[in-house]
Amino acid sequence: MTSAPDWSGAVSALRHADSVLLIAHVTPDPDALGSALALGMALRSLGKTVAVSVGESGFRVPESMNFLPGIELVVSPENVPLSDVVVSCDTASVHRLGVLADVLTNAPVSIVIDHHASNAGFGTINVVDPSSPATAEMVLKIIDLLDVDLDHDIATALYAGLATDTGSFKYRGTTSDTLRTAARLFDTGFDHSTIARLLFDDEPFSSVQMLGEAMSNAVLRTDVADGLGLVYTFISSQARGHLDELSMERVIDNLRRTHEAEVACVFKQSDDGVWKASLRSKSAISVGQIATSFGGGGHKFAAGYTGSTDATEMVERLIDALDSGAGA
Ligand code: MN
Repeated sequence: MTSAPDWSGAVSALRHADSVLLIAHVTPDPDALGSALALGMALRSLGKTVAVSVGESGFRVPESMNFLPGIELVVSPENVPLSDVVVSCDTASVHRLGVLADVLTNAPVSIVIDHHASNAGFGTINVVDPSSPATAEMVLKIIDLLDVDLDHDIATALYAGLATDTGSFKYRGTTSDTLRTAARLFDTGFDHSTIARLLFDDEPFSSVQMLGEAMSNAVLRTDVADGLGLVYTFISSQARGHLDELSMERVIDNLRRTHEAEVACVFKQSDDGVWKASLRSKSAISVGQIATSFGGGGHKFAAGYTGSTDATEMVERLIDALDSGAGA
């Protein structure tokens, strides 16, 4: 666990910088990318030179997030400019910066803005607050401290992060403050209904079909974890095809509806054959603890880790961990 968030240190470093590079974690979600874009647009309005990137070779913004304002700030990791300050957004560990990890590590000033409980604070300045429901909310506070006016575009990027990380304001961790923040963003006048559809209710037919296949292959084990129950499914690299992370996200979002299971897990196969586990729980078990014990990380009720090429063994190890009371 890291020390208290250094808001003033971050704001002062950003004020003094002429150029800032903002990095979102690999396979970015709307909270990571939206936060980086929002802070990027705010810093640009202060006259600073800004770039946003993701540490995947040849990175391009997935189609599902192409509607986010500020997308013109994105450069591929091969083209990141040398910057006075490097900011990591929504990234639990330096490894999740991918090929840009060294860029942050070598920067004279680096700022880590994140809400993952497993974040140990790997910047020279750390703003880590696990009580925050989204990095986007933390970025809004920094934008306020920088005295930048909240405009329609910044609000849209932040709203995308806030709405996604709170599961449309359904998850635990959503407070009345979260809803007030959402209302404040809303009041800038963006097209809320269109954004909600693009974020949650719009995907290619191939994604809908993949979801159906993953659901029909799901396994329910009501005996696991002292009867709390586990439901899991697999997405092979073949089934995944060219579908992006948001499509994968839909699978776990649907699987976790299962009434008979406290824990839901989707095993996703990467192109190199290695399986990754994406975990969700409801209230009784910290999947964050379990993921951390397997070398991953995340939040109490949403976490993940990278396993091996042997999916059967991964299932067995997860069941063993749950049966032995891990995360309870
Ligand atoms: Mn987040």
